[in-house]
Amino acid sequence: AEARDRYVQRNPVSRKLHEESYEYMPGGNTRTILHVSPFPITFTSGKDATLTSVDHDTYTDFLGEYSAGIFGHSNVRIAEAVREGLSNGWNYGGQTIMEKEMAKKVVTRFRPSGMEMVRFTNSGTESNTVAIAAALNFTKRRKILVFSSGYHGGTLIFPMDLMKNPATTNVNLPHDFVFAPYNNIGETTATIKSLPTASLAAIMVEPIQGSGGCRPATKEFLQYLRETADAQKCLLIVDEVMASRLGPNGCSATMGIKADLMSLGKYVGGGMTFGAFGGRRDVMELFDPEKSGLQHPGTYNNNVVTMSAGIVALDIYNASEVERLNAFGADFKTKLQEVLIRHHRLPVMFVTGRGSMLNVRFSGPHAPELRALYYFHMLENYIYLAPRGYTPLNLELKDQDVLKYLAVFENFIVKYNSVV
Ligand code: PLP
Repeated sequence: AEARDRYVQRNPVSRKLHEESYEYMPGGNTRTILHVSPFPITFTSGKDATLTSVDHDTYTDFLGEYSAGIFGHSNVRIAEAVREGLSNGWNYGGQTIMEKEMAKKVVTRFRPSGMEMVRFTNSGTESNTVAIAAALNFTKRRKILVFSSGYHGGTLIFPMDLMKNPATTNVNLPHDFVFAPYNNIGETTATIKSLPTASLAAIMVEPIQGSGGCRPATKEFLQYLRETADAQKCLLIVDEVMASRLGPNGCSATMGIKADLMSLGKYVGGGMTFGAFGGRRDVMELFDPEKSGLQHPGTYNNNVVTMSAGIVALDIYNASEVERLNAFGADFKTKLQEVLIRHHRLPVMFVTGRGSMLNVRFSGPHAPELRALYYFHMLENYIYLAPRGYTPLNLELKDQDVLKYLAVFENFIVKYNSVV
């Protein structure tokens, strides 16, 4: 309560803006994920790895726009590409040169993960929705297997509660989904066996669950899903909207599998409104109007600004930068774990994740309160992160930023020694 009170006192302008927003948006907000009780911080600008609030505080950004902000803020090369895109008009209602260039770049880069052809969308959610439509049409089946704590977008959320009690959960799901526990081969096999023969159109999985707490799939689990999809003659849809940052050719390739369809989003569009899905040529040809002509229109699918930003983004986040950011994250994770071991805090506090995707987490009956305390403590020390402790790293972060994080992290444990 004290940490929360200090937060309220330190951010009066954010508080006022939030109260005003309530009049026009439910919860005062248009992205559920940004909801913070009693109110979120409002920002006015971002530069490199920092964000400045309406209350004139500058934070080191360890949230990186939930992983889309891999380039930090105000990247000069992306800004230049966007300006150039704007200078020639940006909504033609016709083909653009940039979309072919972007498609070639995306297919070339992600081919080892299964991408043979691609289509663009406006978000990761939309990519997954259209990928599911492709699977239903390709297989002429209805069921989609998804996993506990999976997140595939705003209309495709599968929290643990939904698995336990589908009847009572607040559901917003458009399809005939079937649920199985993530990383559990035995129970997944049992779930599939319980279905009518030849009813499964697709298996949809994140190679590392981002929203679900940065939990990587085991290699065995992904390989099992690959073999199962083949045996069931259904499609394996790998959601790499967050995970593609983990490998120079996407995440699936790093785990030795190829998706039938994969979805992309976030950083691949350079921070613009972006999504993509693609995969096997025979499946993607469903969208060829000269062949089966499955519909996938979309006013902004080839938006000049987005395409221009994406082309440059993929050049900036090249193979050596992927490697550098992953190594930076691995080192950070080791140092966080060293602090936890030194202070005997495992397993009440622990760190999950892989490469540049990390999550500081809490376990036990007081986990929600500790998570909130941690969040307010980090903000009080000018470190911005997700309320759930998610920390996707960005290219602008420096060693000194990690040292600062580690000091504040250790200080949290010492200061709240009696409760953590
Ligand atoms: N899939 C995964 C794995 C995600 O993490 C997200 C977003 O966080 C999405 C899909 C949805 O992407 P968007 O927010 O662009 O709709």
